[in-house]
Amino acid sequence: MLSENGYSVEIFELEEKVGGMSKSIELFSQIVDIGPHRFFSKDTRLNDFWHSHTNGEYEKVSRLTRIFYNRKFFYYPLRGFDALFKLGFLESTLCVLSYIKAKISPFKGDSFESWVANAFGYRLYSIFFKSYTEKLWGIKGSELDADFAAQRIKGLNLYEAVKSAFFGNGGKKHKTLVDEFSYPKRGCGVVYENMKDEIIKRGGVLHCNVEVLGITTQDKKAVGILTNKGEFSGDIVISTAPFRDMVLSLDELDSGVKTLAGRLKFRNTILVYVEVGDLALLKKHRLTPNTSLVLGEHSHDCENLGAVITSKVTPTPKSPQNEQSPTAIPRILEEENQATNEKSTSQESSFENNTKKSQKVDSSTATILKQSAKDSRICKNAQNVSDSLAAGFCDDFVGCQGNDKGATLSVVTAVAASDSRKSAQKPTLFKDNWIYVHSKDTQTGRITNFANWTKDLQCGKDSAILCLEYWANDDEALWNLDDKALSEIAKRDLLESKLVADSSLIKNTSVLKIHKSYPVYEKGYKDNLHKIYKALDSFKDLYFIGRNGSFKYNNQDHSILMGLMCADKILGRECDLWHINTDYDYQENGKA
Ligand SMILES: Cc1cc2nc3c(=O)[nH]c(=O)nc-3n(C[C@H](O)[C@H](O)[C@H](O)COP(=O)(O)OP(=O)(O)OC[C@H]3O[C@@H](n4cnc5c(N)ncnc54)[C@H](O)[C@@H]3O)c2cc1C
Repeated sequence: MLSENGYSVEIFELEEKVGGMSKSIELFSQIVDIGPHRFFSKDTRLNDFWHSHTNGEYEKVSRLTRIFYNRKFFYYPLRGFDALFKLGFLESTLCVLSYIKAKISPFKGDSFESWVANAFGYRLYSIFFKSYTEKLWGIKGSELDADFAAQRIKGLNLYEAVKSAFFGNGGKKHKTLVDEFSYPKRGCGVVYENMKDEIIKRGGVLHCNVEVLGITTQDKKAVGILTNKGEFSGDIVISTAPFRDMVLSLDELDSGVKTLAGRLKFRNTILVYVEVGDLALLKKHRLTPNTSLVLGEHSHDCENLGAVITSKVTPTPKSPQNEQSPTAIPRILEEENQATNEKSTSQESSFENNTKKSQKVDSSTATILKQSAKDSRICKNAQNVSDSLAAGFCDDFVGCQGNDKGATLSVVTAVAASDSRKSAQKPTLFKDNWIYVHSKDTQTGRITNFANWTKDLQCGKDSAILCLEYWANDDEALWNLDDKALSEIAKRDLLESKLVADSSLIKNTSVLKIHKSYPVYEKGYKDNLHKIYKALDSFKDLYFIGRNGSFKYNNQDHSILMGLMCADKILGRECDLWHINTDYDYQENGKA
């Protein structure tokens, strides 16, 4: 918008690629995002803007997201009988009673815990929200501000969820419950690459690999930035770098306000990507949702697994939609369920064929994959994993060859030949886009399966890349573990939860650490933040936008909107940037 209106735009980017946490990266010869990256907005302007930057190459993805709790998958949004059956009649009754109790005598205070317990009852809070939330934020639900819940699950409560589960919702869906979303075929980062191209086409300049260290002002007017490559001047400064650091860099800001800014906390994310194969086997012998659940929970004691699969396996879907979009598979599987038993005989023979094929693949020795390193952080970390495996860390390790120049990404493909028959018979892998992991016996809080997004992400490869998310503060042991140890934790989480049936299915791992990925909404944060915002209002031509940039728990849509509205403001239109996100949901609901 600014370059369109005659402004000369210069971008200073810390990384080699634009897109921030919403970029896509190449890994194991496939494409992945930084964890799951679903775009969704009800705002027409935003939707049009976002779609116009996909080159028209996007798919409608059917969202399947479940909660993994007690080794069971609970559909999210809740499905009445599904939840009832899996929680058990007694537990479900207790949940409803707990909800009624909260309605009669609501929890006091404005913590996340009291907010959710009032909306869902304490019992459901403790089953479906507590563990994930505490893993994510590293503090108790009672110490987390209700803003987190208000932003993300506002308008949703047990009554609405159950009503929607049993009766539908007249076409209206809470934002958290939308079950279809647009997704660029080759990853959400395409949108940001296209925005960059557009800016450059209009004369904008992009400086990559430059770290902005601070903002310079004169008489409380922004006049430029200080970077690790020198000083740059400008008439207007818009910052998306971590809010606390940039605020602390302002020489003309009151020291009391700086003290408040110094108290703002960020949480870090650790992503462990795990390549799981052989997907050909999984695809050809797709399991029904129920079978998948059974295998997920009990695959360890399935000596007669071949027989289990023979009776439950689902034929390869013939729908052209399935050919184009693996994400459509979960829904179709359910429809095809009925036809399953009739076709079991022919499937049995095809299963045998594929077992043989898989044996052949599995019994090969380690393969070395080489790939251009497009992303500096991923390159560094993946290289470390290779090194650690080479040191003999991993049980499955067969061989490894590093790249002497370090310019390409070398990844170990480790396959245990001795386990090949066993793994070929245990083709279990969840079919969700991502799952929330609420079990206490796993450290991860969320797992994405990129094989269930678009076919193009897989680039013709026959394996699935999972991404396991962990969170930690700077001073926590987890954050300071090396890649080898983190990979091992991820493998253990997958195997012990039975989400992956056998270690021989795990081919590669790669670790990406994201520093300051979440602004922490600790109770009381708001008072300090508003004082800082107020003090910053006295500066001219200086804007703080984005998730870390303005200390707001933004999704992509919120951050894009902040960018657009910041341009609006510079172009003379009235708007309050500080209130986007919190208030924005209200505007959205109004328009829906
Ligand atoms: C694991 C995970 C999953 C997510 N899932 C979703 C999802 O499903 N849907 C969704 O909509 N959103 C999701 N998000 C949130 C989404 O990533 C963010 O909302 C979005 O990326 C915010 O964009 P931004 O521009 O505000 O910030 P960022 O993405 O953080 O971009 C900031 C930019 O500034 C650069 N920068 C930072 N510091 C400096 C510096 N000192 N000097 C120079 N440059 C600097 C960064 O390199 C980056 O390019 C997820 C985030 C994570 C971590």
